[in-house]
Amino acid sequence: MKSAYDLIVIGAGPAGLTAAKIAAENGLSVALLERKNSVEEILRMCGMMVVSLSGSYMGERVVLNEEAGLLCFPNNGFSVKYDGPTKDFFTWQMYSPNGEMFRFGDYAANLAKGKAGRASAVYDKSWFLAGLLGECKKLGVQVFTGENVIDVRKKAEGVEVQTASGKHFSGAFAIAADGRNSRVARVMGMNKNRGFYGSVTSIGYEMTNLNLPEPYALHMPLVQSGDPPMLGFVCPRAWNNEGEDTWLVMITNVDPNIDHESLLEMFTKKSRFAPWFKNAKMIRKCGCAGNMYSPIIHPFKDNVIFAGDSGWCQEAEMTGAVMSGWKAGSAVVLAMLEGKLNQQGVQSYLNWWRTAHLEKCDHNIFLKNLYMPVLCNDKEIDYIFSKINFVLPTVLDPYEVPENIGKALMKIMPDIQKERPELIKKMAGFNDLPPEVVLKNTIRSGFNCSFTT
Ligand SMILES: Cc1cc2nc3c(=O)[nH]c(=O)nc-3n(C[C@H](O)[C@H](O)[C@H](O)COP(=O)(O)OP(=O)(O)OC[C@H]3O[C@@H](n4cnc5c(N)ncnc54)[C@H](O)[C@@H]3O)c2cc1C
Repeated sequence: MKSAYDLIVIGAGPAGLTAAKIAAENGLSVALLERKNSVEEILRMCGMMVVSLSGSYMGERVVLNEEAGLLCFPNNGFSVKYDGPTKDFFTWQMYSPNGEMFRFGDYAANLAKGKAGRASAVYDKSWFLAGLLGECKKLGVQVFTGENVIDVRKKAEGVEVQTASGKHFSGAFAIAADGRNSRVARVMGMNKNRGFYGSVTSIGYEMTNLNLPEPYALHMPLVQSGDPPMLGFVCPRAWNNEGEDTWLVMITNVDPNIDHESLLEMFTKKSRFAPWFKNAKMIRKCGCAGNMYSPIIHPFKDNVIFAGDSGWCQEAEMTGAVMSGWKAGSAVVLAMLEGKLNQQGVQSYLNWWRTAHLEKCDHNIFLKNLYMPVLCNDKEIDYIFSKINFVLPTVLDPYEVPENIGKALMKIMPDIQKERPELIKKMAGFNDLPPEVVLKNTIRSGFNCSFTT
């Protein structure tokens, strides 16, 4: 029996919408299944920074063409619509528990350069998803919202997808773009051989009336060290609220059992950073939870392709998810044209996954974003930060940042050797220790969901 659709896309985030759009643009019949009732509603917290306008990410130099309303991927040779609001920000600033700070980019110098000096820009994700959804609908993609996919099975002629409401969809291929806690990856047994590094949970507020030292920056305080540590995160939103600048203020922890409300209260009311929030007005509360796995090495099984966060280590970022969706959708188009309804048909995607993702984004490096507060205590972090009294390159790529921190540590090593030799061993750990050693307590307290249901 012929499948009802050429392609079924599961999940209407950046990856799924891009995959559905490119497939429909090339004439395929596409069903897009989304668990939420409204695609553009953002229920899960997101920083909404474009990663990145100040350097390359996954071999791409992303361009935000605000005049034309496009987000462009020149190296890959495609663009997607984005004509919503943006706000530039100029540095990434990291704070030690007692307020020492080092930065990626010189705030004043970058600000003076305008767009040429921006670290990147924030965008409105809801607007972005709505734009992509509009493009999909215009191209004839059949969108089914409120459909929670619970099972995916191989059929002789392709794949069958079942939702919680009892509907069945058949397609020649499916693309699992159901995000970081991918149910499809779990039910198909794709997590079994992945490394597990713990669960990250965050809570935050959108706020106005902040009193930040340098407002248009990504501020990242290591609020407290330890195992587990707590990280704060403050970044501008692209939109204003009643004329006031709006920010996302959140805390992140790797112990899911911790009382996040109290931690946020501590960060905004009692910590060294409390003066930033003295007159703050809360607008909206949000949160998120997710597991950290190593990436899926071979993102294909039984005519299902894994795209975006569903197969990544923690997150592909919006731009990575879009590239992944574009490449996965394009691969299905080629497979259909050539009549190769199997792995061989979508080999171009598997090659891309290896070269653009696995080889360029080493998850061991990404996980080092968590190393410093686990390896050192508050006082040691204060000391190290005070020594990094030089500006690091203006970079937002989460894989390049830990490398740059590693280089900064090497630079200050002679001073530390003289002043605090006992710290040398801990610092060496930053470069030498694998994540399963540094994050052993994080792993223990997390909720590993690798099983197949
Ligand atoms: C705290 C936090 C901050 C972040 N900050 C940034 C940032 O500043 N910049 C950036 O670029 N990225 C950021 N990210 C990452 C970014 O949100 C993701 O990388 C990106 O959204 C991944 O896109 P995706 O399409 O792969 O998955 P998602 O955006 O997760 O989309 C998956 C979609 O699938 C749907 N779905 C899930 N399960 C099912 C199911 N069973 N059936 C049907 N539908 C389903 C979901 O509802 C969702 O719509 C952040 C993430 C977090 C957690």
